[in-house]
Amino acid sequence: MNFISTRGQAPKANFADVLLAGLAPDGGLYLPESWPVIPAAEIASFKGARYQDVAFAVLSRFTGDAFSADELKAEIESAYSGFEAPDIAPLTPLGGDAHLLELFHGPTFAFKDIALQILGRLFAVALKKRGGRATIVAATSGDTGSAAIAALGGLENIDVFVLHPKGRVSDVQRRQMTTSPHANVHNIALEGTFDDAQALVKALFAEKDFAKEISLTAVNSINFVRIAAQSVYYFTAAAQLAKPPIFVVPTGNFGDIFAGEAASRMGLPIAGLVIATNANDIMARALNKGVYQAGDARHTLSPSMDIQVASNFERALFEASGRDAAWTTHAMNEFSRDKKLVLPHNSVLPRLRTLYSAFASDDAQTLATIKRIHAQTGRILDPHTAVAAKAMEMDTFPGRPMVILSTAHPAKFPDAVTRAIGHPPQVPPALARLENLPEKLEFLPNNLPLLRQFISSRLAA
Ligand SMILES: *Cc1c(COP(=O)(O)O)cnc(C)c1O
Repeated sequence: MNFISTRGQAPKANFADVLLAGLAPDGGLYLPESWPVIPAAEIASFKGARYQDVAFAVLSRFTGDAFSADELKAEIESAYSGFEAPDIAPLTPLGGDAHLLELFHGPTFAFKDIALQILGRLFAVALKKRGGRATIVAATSGDTGSAAIAALGGLENIDVFVLHPKGRVSDVQRRQMTTSPHANVHNIALEGTFDDAQALVKALFAEKDFAKEISLTAVNSINFVRIAAQSVYYFTAAAQLAKPPIFVVPTGNFGDIFAGEAASRMGLPIAGLVIATNANDIMARALNKGVYQAGDARHTLSPSMDIQVASNFERALFEASGRDAAWTTHAMNEFSRDKKLVLPHNSVLPRLRTLYSAFASDDAQTLATIKRIHAQTGRILDPHTAVAAKAMEMDTFPGRPMVILSTAHPAKFPDAVTRAIGHPPQVPPALARLENLPEKLEFLPNNLPLLRQFISSRLAA
């Protein structure tokens, strides 16, 4: 399997290249040259199958000869052995046509573990085969960082630098990152927003000589391997339902929901993908008004979605343009220059709307939703999942199974939950333990030369 860039100027790459590089050298995002299609009979056979076996069926379509079948199987088994739910991503009823797809049973209690646990392992194997070291630098709005650290901490020949916006992640999220005991983990609290952190990481990648010198790479959701790994639970969830479902996805960087588009392009019948955003509603405005325009990032109760630039949207734009790399390049340049892109009303926009719809809600609605669902069902949703539950309410699709992607355990966000229902959720022992561990982090201003200096000094140490 070959991979191409959404900007059309990068050489074709294989799975190992894509895994290790993250971003394509022309600044674009990798996608398969053509989507592998899984036959309907095989998709039907996923009903009742083990999660790990579906993961192998999906991921082996992409890996080519980068990994043998035995290697891939072994890494998948190992990746999901640390999950506390035996079926990895359980689908549970929420009343009526609604279901929760619980994606928070991994080591850091958020859905990002599902992709990063496998990505980290494949990364280490690929690096060993190729030789050399890698420096991973990631910007995080909270959950990517801890999931990356849980997946990569302690691995040989890899250093991990994680930038989080100072004071804008929850205490639990911060502790999950800063209490890592591993010497190859470096936490940075950055003065600024998540978008500042992401822009800084992008600028670091643009410094070609430095990037090459330290073998810089990304495990952000721009890494296609994460998308591929996340597409698996769309298959396992749909397999348990009588009709093609509508998936409602709490959305920030557009990675998780694009994994739904990926599943659909691989042949999975999906009735729709609902983009659920908080007050950072760039994606809702893009779909509903046809203008993709960044605003100022707002601090909300669902901080992992406090994002104004949805990096993975470039992949959806590329697909919706009929894989027109020249148009995509032009569009992304225009957006990066003007912070605004008008989506073509006679082609790209209507094509996006055949699969996607979008709803935004604010913090007051998030709290009211947590409260209402707790009263009705006894279940406590985390604020990100609540944003999706609210979006589901805003649209009606009678008789259609609805699947809300539940992206975090409520115990990661005790303050929001307490505000909503008057008491905090029960804290799993693995999270409670973090309170007593020492934290390790560095404070940096939003400044590229200083970041470079910091990375060099840590790598030299
Ligand atoms: C990262 C994250 C999201 C957003 O996912 P994207 O792939 O960035 O759209 C939603 N909820 C939680 C809890 C997250 O950690």
